[in-house]
Amino acid sequence: MSIDHWMMFSTFAEQDFFAYPNPDTYQGVIINANMAAYAPAGMAAFLLEKTAAQTKYLLDPLTHAFQHDPGLISNSEGEPKKSIKSLADAYGSPLSEIVGKRPLLPQDLVPAATLEAFVNRCVSYQLNHLSGYIKQSDAAKYLDDGDLSVAPYAVVAPYFYVTETTLDQWLPINIRAAELAVAATPSGKTFAAVVVSQGVIVDDEARAKLCEAFSAVELDGFLVWIDNLDEQNASGAELQGLKDFCGRLRSNGTREVINIHGGYFSILAAGALGGHALSGVAHGPEFGEYRSVVPVGGGIPISRYYIPDLHMRIRYRDALAMFRSKEWLENSEDFHANVCDCDECLGTLSGDPANFSLFGDGTVKSVKRRHGMVRIEFPTSEAKKRCLRHYLQRKKREFIAASKAPPQVLLDDLKAGEDKYQDVAGLSGVAHLRLWRKILDPDYDA
Ligand SMILES: [Zn+2]
Repeated sequence: MSIDHWMMFSTFAEQDFFAYPNPDTYQGVIINANMAAYAPAGMAAFLLEKTAAQTKYLLDPLTHAFQHDPGLISNSEGEPKKSIKSLADAYGSPLSEIVGKRPLLPQDLVPAATLEAFVNRCVSYQLNHLSGYIKQSDAAKYLDDGDLSVAPYAVVAPYFYVTETTLDQWLPINIRAAELAVAATPSGKTFAAVVVSQGVIVDDEARAKLCEAFSAVELDGFLVWIDNLDEQNASGAELQGLKDFCGRLRSNGTREVINIHGGYFSILAAGALGGHALSGVAHGPEFGEYRSVVPVGGGIPISRYYIPDLHMRIRYRDALAMFRSKEWLENSEDFHANVCDCDECLGTLSGDPANFSLFGDGTVKSVKRRHGMVRIEFPTSEAKKRCLRHYLQRKKREFIAASKAPPQVLLDDLKAGEDKYQDVAGLSGVAHLRLWRKILDPDYDA
């Protein structure tokens, strides 16, 4: 059974990667509704021109953005960002009244007529906003009607972020919104988004409560997002909780479950090894395997190289030190045999192991900091693209391996990665591989 490979749209600068390594690599694209609100014509052109004809799309309605501190969705002048403002206008009352002033509260959506009108507008936005632009766009004129896929793959019910302390307040709203979205969707699929804190995922009672409540709604699937859950650094309880939670939502394979920010653990859990606990996994063109629900500012970008056998991104400098110490940079054959033989790595090295440095190229810029100007090295855009293309090549292989290789082979690969890197990465550098085996292997023996 294949595992659906989805990619999150992030910026227009990265739109060419949705056809990389091949146009048919991705089943679908997940687009945040604020991006669709901000640049609908550009987004329609992206879907028509930069993705394969069969690529599906989903619009994340991003309704949770309104429940956070308004400062998080405002510009430097304290006004709501343009894209958020237009989304609030499309969704109408009560969002349009409170946006930029105060966070949305569950009680704002308690009146039945208010919630129903809001859900209807949110559903209609997903069905009509982008599809209108797709139909009108220049590129569409050259396509036959049959080749023009305009509707989203599924309608996503409006949803709000749930923590262990706000579960009792938000869950009834999320459930009611899902029921209303099902009723408001004339044909096609309806999904719910289950966006929860790590605390919910490790709490048996909270997990059970959520799964039971959603199982009663006639949904076709779920988007799952665990706040900031980094699978390479997560605890056993969190990963076990994630697998159990997704497996229950999956209802014996009758419902789709897509982790919208997942790594290789989720991919494995989606395959036979994990009992098909998920139907699909999404990541960004540039990693995006975990993300905070409450937006946080980006740090200083550094080049990171995805080490295939560790299924983890490592700072370029640390990766270089490991490969040197292992003597895998003595010649290009050793590098390709031990680290990576993807097209990007073959092309970048071009037979010379010294060319591995091209993944870490940087330029030094002066940056203003609180205590004055400092000189900081930034990756060049070419170095960034090389790391990204290598990452996407490896991700494609991970999805194929997890869906086709026998479970024991996948477990042996994790063990081999551990043995291979332990002496240079230390126990803590390979601990995630052991933990994944422990959770996924029914016969795990330390
Ligand atoms: Zn590679």
